[in-house]
Amino acid sequence: MTILDKPSEPLSPQGVPGGIFACVFKNTPTIQLIIDLEHGKIVEANAAAEAFYGWPREKLQSMRIHDINTRASADIDALLKATHPSPGHTFQFHHRLASGEIKAVEVSITAMDGVGPPLCLSIIHDITNRKQAEDRILLCQRAMDASSNGLTIADAGQADMPFIYANPAFLKMTGYSLDEIKGHNCRFLQGSDRNQKEADQLREAIKQGKHCEVVLRNYRKDGTLFWNEVIVSPVRDASGQITHYIGSQKDVSERKKAEGDIEQLAYFDPLTALPNRRLFLDRLAMNVAFAQRTKTCGAVALIDLDHFKHLNEAEGHERGDQLLREVARRININLRPGDTGARLGGDEFVVLLTNLAADPVAAAQLARVIVEGLFEAICEPAILGGLTHQSAASIGVVIFPQEKDSPLGLLQQADTAMYRAKESGRNAICFFEPAMQATAQVRLTIERDLRLALERGELRMYLQPQVNRTAAIIGVEALMRWEHPHNGLVAPAAFIPVAEETGLIVAMGEWIFAQACILATQLAEKGSNIRIAVNVSPRQFRDPNFLGYISQTMKETGASPSLLVLEITEAVIFDNFAEAMVKMNQIKAMGIHLSLDDFGTGYSSLAYLQKLPFSEIKIDRSFITDAPNNAHDAALVEAILALARPNNLQVVAEGVETQQHVDFLKGHSCPIFQGYFYGRPMPRDEFIAMMQKQKLISSK
Ligand code: C2E
Ligand code: CA
Ligand code: CA
Repeated sequence: MTILDKPSEPLSPQGVPGGIFACVFKNTPTIQLIIDLEHGKIVEANAAAEAFYGWPREKLQSMRIHDINTRASADIDALLKATHPSPGHTFQFHHRLASGEIKAVEVSITAMDGVGPPLCLSIIHDITNRKQAEDRILLCQRAMDASSNGLTIADAGQADMPFIYANPAFLKMTGYSLDEIKGHNCRFLQGSDRNQKEADQLREAIKQGKHCEVVLRNYRKDGTLFWNEVIVSPVRDASGQITHYIGSQKDVSERKKAEGDIEQLAYFDPLTALPNRRLFLDRLAMNVAFAQRTKTCGAVALIDLDHFKHLNEAEGHERGDQLLREVARRININLRPGDTGARLGGDEFVVLLTNLAADPVAAAQLARVIVEGLFEAICEPAILGGLTHQSAASIGVVIFPQEKDSPLGLLQQADTAMYRAKESGRNAICFFEPAMQATAQVRLTIERDLRLALERGELRMYLQPQVNRTAAIIGVEALMRWEHPHNGLVAPAAFIPVAEETGLIVAMGEWIFAQACILATQLAEKGSNIRIAVNVSPRQFRDPNFLGYISQTMKETGASPSLLVLEITEAVIFDNFAEAMVKMNQIKAMGIHLSLDDFGTGYSSLAYLQKLPFSEIKIDRSFITDAPNNAHDAALVEAILALARPNNLQVVAEGVETQQHVDFLKGHSCPIFQGYFYGRPMPRDEFIAMMQKQKLISSK
């Protein structure tokens, strides 16, 4: 029996509860225990305590507070001691229930003065739910603080929706302190860059109480720009009223830059930063549609640098790249606003001129003026790595709109015109005309067939005699023919330029050189010692393996170098004088003769060419043809012959067709003649027969 068993008993002088107090104690809904402060024994427990802990009163009365409180015994002892005789304290503990469950509790302890052992009254509140809520808030706070994304909370209750919270990541990202941003609307992050449609979008979403994601240009406290990916969501209270806006903010500048890089890579040429082929065709398609709609003309101008490959090979790619960048720069500064310059690849650039004029003729005239300006700018000398480089270009232009033009079709036509410009001598501008289309088609067919000609054995070596003043054969020029399966015998003019452009000329030139070597050996075996001249194209001459091939082939065929003549034109030398000189000296050192072909058609003076190891010059046919009747041509032929003699140069007159030619040339002491008058180019067997007839070789 304890004090609570005597409910009517009044409060004793020691303060031990009894009577009313006991009744209150027993029936109060708050959990209460009376504890002996000396040993921590539970002296009394009320009904609420029984219900809470899950033990009957009797059981509780056999327990110590230590059995309930989860703290270490020593801690509890110390607390009990401290409670005596001080008035009242509140603690937060964890109490264990009969079920084993642990509850967070707030305990108020009041010492009870009186006789007998010192006691205290513990009033216990179950704060588990409150504690959990508090912990949740604390966790949220910590999570927001720890988030690597910037987080902000704005107060929707105030007119200007000021920030009331920002996490450390946001402060770090923007460079502001919490005090500096608290109370301010987020718009200060935009600086003076207010004209952002994404910001309007965000404002509109907030007005409608909606979630919104945008990327804004924002500015840090130090004024630097960053791209801010902002996600703003409304926070509602229990009644659905928006009380706050929470903003998540992320610096996506790196990503933005990468996206920009990707765009740059996809649409721009990395070397020159000009639009690339893809972007150009895109813009062209747009402009063609525009031109058709508005009935105004535009133009496409394709620019191909002359001799660029040579610069690249001879001076290195670094130099080549420098030149391409410089050309790109010049194109850019010489364009009208709104026009597009692009690089198609290699040394090919293209320009789109828009909105030129309604009338195609007027448009073409304006296009010519602009393109000529570009052309002059490109041809201005450029300093590359301390050396002056003079560029030249060939430009093909096409005017649109036409009946049915596609961007690719226009580019193709500009390309055709560009080739025509190249053919007409480099350094030229040419406008596309429909007639060129057919030529371009033929050219394409030739290129395709020519690739097969070599492997199918369709090439032929024709031979044209060269004679002395007594008409005796002293030499022969090897000339190429193509026996096309459908078109018959094709003359070099129809295929050599294509072969040169495509590079096929290298293999073809090697083939005819080998044929010439074989012939030289065969003729020598038959007792002849006439010389055999072979033409060498500029491309073939530049080929790094050229000399290697020559010496190898002479070795394999046993041909004597002294019986071989290589004919080269000025174009070979013009490309790169120094390099040509080195190669030519090597050829001379091998014992092979060098002949300057087509002399008179180029620009160089004989004095200039004399620095090179030529042993012979061939006067171009165009001078011989008219010499007997044209004083100017006659004077030129005379001058060449007069100059050559003291310099120990052989001279061959080409295109000798008539007795008149022969007389004129003999009158000026020309030593060697070549032309239809003495013999047309003929197949090998015919030539051999001619030699036999002249008793130059045995008939065996
Ligand atoms: P080329 O080197 O000046 O050759 C002389 C050209 O003049 C030959 O034309 C020849 O047939 C022509 N010809 C010779 N005598 C007369 C004449 O009395 N009257 C007229 N009207 N023409 C005459 P072909 O064979 O058509 O060759 C044209 C050009 O093609 C050559 O001019 C040469 O530059 C080039 N070529 C020919 N074969 C080869 C070759 O094997 N390799 C290289 N790289 N080029 C070649
Ligand atoms: Ca020749
Ligand atoms: Ca010639």
